[in-house]
Amino acid sequence: MKAWAGAAIIAIGVVVAISAAVSLFGLRRLSPGPSAGGEEPVKTAGGGMIDSRQDVSIMLERPDARSTKGGKMQVRLIPVTMFQSNCVVAWDEITGDGVLFDTGGDAGRIIDFVRSKGIQVKAIFLTHGHVDHVAGTNRVKKELAVPVYLHPEDRPLADATSRQCLMFGIPMEDAPEVDHDLAEGEKFAFGSLEFTALHLPGHSPGCTAFLFSGEKPVLVSGDVLFESSIGRTDLPGGDMDKMKESLNRLKQLADDVVVVPGHGRQTSIGREKKLNPYLSESFSMW
Ligand SMILES: [Zn+2]
Ligand SMILES: [Zn+2]
Repeated sequence: MKAWAGAAIIAIGVVVAISAAVSLFGLRRLSPGPSAGGEEPVKTAGGGMIDSRQDVSIMLERPDARSTKGGKMQVRLIPVTMFQSNCVVAWDEITGDGVLFDTGGDAGRIIDFVRSKGIQVKAIFLTHGHVDHVAGTNRVKKELAVPVYLHPEDRPLADATSRQCLMFGIPMEDAPEVDHDLAEGEKFAFGSLEFTALHLPGHSPGCTAFLFSGEKPVLVSGDVLFESSIGRTDLPGGDMDKMKESLNRLKQLADDVVVVPGHGRQTSIGREKKLNPYLSESFSMW
């Protein structure tokens, strides 16, 4: 065996060992938050069929968009319940590590999807505490054995899940069991992907969006920003002035940021700046 071949094998071994260590580490909390984020147990499972009739795979504009560390991001929208709230699955296609945003219901479909793709889910992030975004959380959390994150200002809303069910006349669900508080600016990483929590109140006090960095940035916007619209501010805890401040923050993002909203289709910051009346100058001054 030639010396360079031996060195190459050792190098590959080191890379494999490092990769294994990284995947064991799973979700990495990069900045300290209000509650201690430790290593979380992750169970994997196989099997299951998926009803994908309504699910949408997000095409990132450049299908070859890769993070600086060599991963490849995949995003899938699973619209759940009669509210058609988007459960967002984001994962690194190379490592298989992923996270879920807004497990609002239809837990079986969400679980079947991640199992069918072999995604190692690290955590569930809730954009806010409305029932259509949280009602399936306990079932998914239990099945996948993952922690749940939510901004503390939306805890009262989430704790009132059964009251929200009554209000909307839907089957009763328990309040989601939340493990960790989210804070503005907090950074997380899994696989080769990284994202930052942005506290954007207005639709509800604790609304949080999640911005994935990298060559092709993606914003999971929850009910703050939709295609050509925004979330309502007339529900308990809603605040139009705060919503305007939050929208002004989003307007600072680059035009090519892909927006994955809490309901409806994907869009981009550039498109919304052009076509969404709520992002116009006249609306923010009104
Ligand atoms: Zn909402
Ligand atoms: Zn919603």
